[in-house]
Amino acid sequence: MEALHLVPIFLGEKAELLRPLGLALRRTFGLVCEEHPPAFDPEVAFDAGRGQYNSRVLLAHLLHAAPHTRVLGVAGVDLFVPVLTFVLGEAQLGGRAAIVSIHRLRNEPYGLPEDPTLLLDRLVKEAVHEIGHNFGLLHCPMTRCVMSSSAGVEEVDLKSERFCDRCLAQIRAAEVDPVGWRRFLTVRRRA
Ligand SMILES: [Zn+2]
Ligand SMILES: [Zn+2]
Repeated sequence: MEALHLVPIFLGEKAELLRPLGLALRRTFGLVCEEHPPAFDPEVAFDAGRGQYNSRVLLAHLLHAAPHTRVLGVAGVDLFVPVLTFVLGEAQLGGRAAIVSIHRLRNEPYGLPEDPTLLLDRLVKEAVHEIGHNFGLLHCPMTRCVMSSSAGVEEVDLKSERFCDRCLAQIRAAEVDPVGWRRFLTVRRRA
């Protein structure tokens, strides 16, 4: 079974989400998930002017620090790419690196009480979505499909954590990925 490194980035006590996330990703993709602390200082991605962390910089460091495996960064801080106000996550299309942020998946920024179960549900959806991009999937027009695009948390809640039949067929048809075979193709981002 292929391995996936889960890398907490300023995740604090929310690092407890990594274990159930890893189990969900194993069920979905058959990836063996291992937790690894970041092998770089994530502070390098901080943009003082915006008070956010540059998603693309983190993605590059994740790739560099784990050259022989798939890698998913799970951030507790807000992420951005220069042209957008924020991103919930970002992934290489047909690559092996992705990152998600729980920052805007929490209830608290919307003035609602903390809900750990809902947070995990949202995190699993966003992680499956980004890894779906790693497997070469584009955004899907089916609202319930996990590959439908989400501009915000409301849309995350509308979709399921599952692939529609068409996306699932595409995942299953994807060639087995000897690590390093898929390289730095286009990086896809999503708001
Ligand atoms: Zn789909
Ligand atoms: Zn996407």
